Amino acid sequence: MTLSSFAKINLCIHLLGKRADGYHEIVTLMETVDLADDLALSGQEKGTTVTCSDPAVPTDGRNLVQKAAGLLRERCGLGDRGVRIHIEKRIPVAAGLAGGSGNAAMTLHGLNALWSLGLREEDLMDLAAELGSDVPFCLYGGVAVASGRGEKVAWLDAPGPRHYVLVCPPLEVASGWAYSQWKLELTKNASRINLISSVMQAGDGSKLASCLHNDLEPAVRAAHPEIDRARELLADAGSKGILMSGSGPSVFGLAPGRAEAERIAHDLRGRVEPSWRVFAVSSTSRRDATV
Ligand code: ATP
Repeated sequence: MTLSSFAKINLCIHLLGKRADGYHEIVTLMETVDLADDLALSGQEKGTTVTCSDPAVPTDGRNLVQKAAGLLRERCGLGDRGVRIHIEKRIPVAAGLAGGSGNAAMTLHGLNALWSLGLREEDLMDLAAELGSDVPFCLYGGVAVASGRGEKVAWLDAPGPRHYVLVCPPLEVASGWAYSQWKLELTKNASRINLISSVMQAGDGSKLASCLHNDLEPAVRAAHPEIDRARELLADAGSKGILMSGSGPSVFGLAPGRAEAERIAHDLRGRVEPSWRVFAVSSTSRRDATV
């Protein structure tokens, strides 16, 4: 069984405060885009064997797909039931695109089918929340507002597709570090979540560019000049809505159509070093309830 595991971008992130459990209280609007890893799952007698096309990604117990398989076994009383999972990595790692969270979410769906577990949406959402803040959203993707530490997800009906150019500088930003840099007193913006939600629900692409916001961006920008370079490249290419995704370092810009996104991406690839990755992407709709 092969499943596509989509990347996500954040069109808006507000941090509201630090919680007693160490996480931050956030509200964010996310959407999945058609940059995807492929996950190939197959049965084996026992244990989990993970392989990945990107040697930088750990394949042992630190990999979120291992954690997802372990959690399912434990909760469903499956002993050491076996699975092999190969990850064909295309989503840059630790890039603010939730690649690992998406892989974990698709492992839950895949094993639910492969092991005939019959878990329903609410069961999968609860398990996903234990694996990571972005995993519940990644189970179904599409467009949603997420709150709490990101695990409370309200899906929006936002007619698409929208088209973007993604510029991924060759560095990893640890989400924990980016969040730790945030200071409440430096956050002056009123929430744009309601505005951006209504603009997206109305399908008003022209207004979207002026609504985007990310509270994590100033600190990551200050520490990593690559963010400004990515922004400048996109601005020079004529993009209007430019924003860092998640805790970075990926930066995206809106494009009026897929052909224009492809043209800009092609142009930018000729202007950056080969270690920079540039993608033309389009939003994807919410998945069906199962694989
Ligand atoms: P988020 O936006 O949810 O913070 P991210 O895109 O910034 O996520 P990931 O690509 O998910 O970050 O990777 C974060 C860390 O998780 C990396 O250091 C990586 O080694 C580890 N990791 C564990 N499992 C995976 C996986 N299946 N794919 C990618 N990274 C993984």
